[in-house]
Amino acid sequence: MKRVFRAATLVQVAHARNVLITAGIQCELRNQYLAGAMGELPMMETWPQLFVDDEDEQSALRALARAATAPVGHPWICEDCGEQLEAQFTSCWRCGASKQ
Ligand SMILES: [Zn+2]
Repeated sequence: MKRVFRAATLVQVAHARNVLITAGIQCELRNQYLAGAMGELPMMETWPQLFVDDEDEQSALRALARAATAPVGHPWICEDCGEQLEAQFTSCWRCGASKQ
């Protein structure tokens, strides 16, 4: 497993997790409940973190980079297959239809 993301707040990590799930990448959220254990560990090690399989590391990092630079927008629904898609996608990952 490779760590691809970590942040001080669970909200940020949950968003990154959604990005990966939307991109079809399996990920594992760690440290979700460890915030109360600070003190013993270096602080950043207690932050919520996302891990992916080794072979998914590059695609996960690309998906996160794309999401970070995407213009702010709203999720949209594919008119062809009904899939819900994040704002950064301009076409449906499931069926390939373009955003209307
Ligand atoms: Zn679609």
